[in-house]
Amino acid sequence: MRKFDVTIIGAGAAGMMCAIQAGRRGRTVLLVDHAASAGDKIRISGGGKCNFTNLDIKYDKFISHNPKFMASCLSRYTQWDFIDWVESCGILYHEKTLGQLFCNNSSKEILTMLNQAMSDAGVVLELKTSVKNIKRSTNFEIELNTSSIMSESLVIATGGKSIPKMGATGFGYKIAEQFGLSLTETRPGLVPLMFAQQELAPIKQMSGTSVQASVSCNNVSFDEGLLFTHRGLSGPSILQISSYWDQGDEISVNLLRDNSILEALKTKRQKNGKQAIHNALNGLLPSVVCKFVTELANVSGNIGDQSDLSLIKLSNAVHEWKVKPVGSEGYRTAEVTLGGVDTDELHSRTMECKTVKGLYFIGEVVDVTGWLGGYNFQWAWSSGWAAGQEA
Ligand SMILES: Cc1cc2nc3c(=O)[nH]c(=O)nc-3n(C[C@H](O)[C@H](O)[C@H](O)COP(=O)(O)OP(=O)(O)OC[C@H]3O[C@@H](n4cnc5c(N)ncnc54)[C@H](O)[C@@H]3O)c2cc1C
Repeated sequence: MRKFDVTIIGAGAAGMMCAIQAGRRGRTVLLVDHAASAGDKIRISGGGKCNFTNLDIKYDKFISHNPKFMASCLSRYTQWDFIDWVESCGILYHEKTLGQLFCNNSSKEILTMLNQAMSDAGVVLELKTSVKNIKRSTNFEIELNTSSIMSESLVIATGGKSIPKMGATGFGYKIAEQFGLSLTETRPGLVPLMFAQQELAPIKQMSGTSVQASVSCNNVSFDEGLLFTHRGLSGPSILQISSYWDQGDEISVNLLRDNSILEALKTKRQKNGKQAIHNALNGLLPSVVCKFVTELANVSGNIGDQSDLSLIKLSNAVHEWKVKPVGSEGYRTAEVTLGGVDTDELHSRTMECKTVKGLYFIGEVVDVTGWLGGYNFQWAWSSGWAAGQEA
């Protein structure tokens, strides 16, 4: 039976970072993944340019039942540490918006950086390898489809359930349960929202149109792009709010966050009363959206004929469009999984289980989920780094 100091299951962002750190400490490290290549999500992330971190890492941009759990890892391996590493490898990057850092060229550069560091640290990477069974005696006995392994430490870095066709399995949750650890409820996050047929009909007509919008739900708001789709709504503001949205919740959308439409309409009523009401909105919103909001507010005719009440109804349709999604697109398209291994089960400094010595959980499998914008990779780097110092 082969022996390793550390076996890591899952060669994603967190698993690779952990492997590099443990290997650099002189530990013998085996990293296994059932996929044919390591870091597939890194490769496709950020439209192929990998939004690898954010300049503004703050704990309130992470969702967890324990809102302070992530502080230790994030403060010991920071975005600046990762940026330094990226720079030292000559990878060019830029800030796109809101502190989000993307590669100038390709996410493959981040993968090359990680793969090179793994090879320098002597990490043994075994792909197309699945885990059949795990037993704990003095060490962990891990039965792979290829061979059996004995390992002092075992790190679970298998991510969440998002995008099953990319190899997401929920395997980490099963291992947590096997060792008697509690889980918090899991659900898709950073995911487009869908609507029932009667609400969808007008939305479909705007499919492909985007606006800058402020979207609110459960006392949280995001001011970012919103995209109408043939299934409902998407775009950054919707993906963000989806992580705070629960089945049955209503969302409120301000389609024109920077302007008060009521004042603009009153001025137009005085100056150009013969203008059709939906044309009066032109220039402020895309024309398909102008038509949509006038129908939503049930106002028609010329602007000069509109009462104050009609203009208020129209203003409400623009600034406070209330809509109840029927569901989300689910794990098929969700960027992340909310919930996971209960943080109460883990030491926040090392990511080791409190009750099972030598067993670690890192990255997305844990109940820590970041906002859109590089926060999830930073959590993967930071939690992977922390476990890699101890495992
Ligand atoms: C389309 C998309 C784009 C994204 N873009 C960004 C972005 O730009 N910035 C950002 O911060 N976040 C982004 N994310 C989120 C980010 O990719 C994840 O949060 C991050 O990859 C989590 O890292 P992880 O190592 O915990 O898990 P993962 O990266 O999911 O890695 C888990 C690994 O475990 C392997 N595995 C799973 N089950 C088993 C098993 N049973 N046996 C063996 N191996 C197994 C998988 O094959 C995978 O390689 C994006 C996500 C998606 C889906």
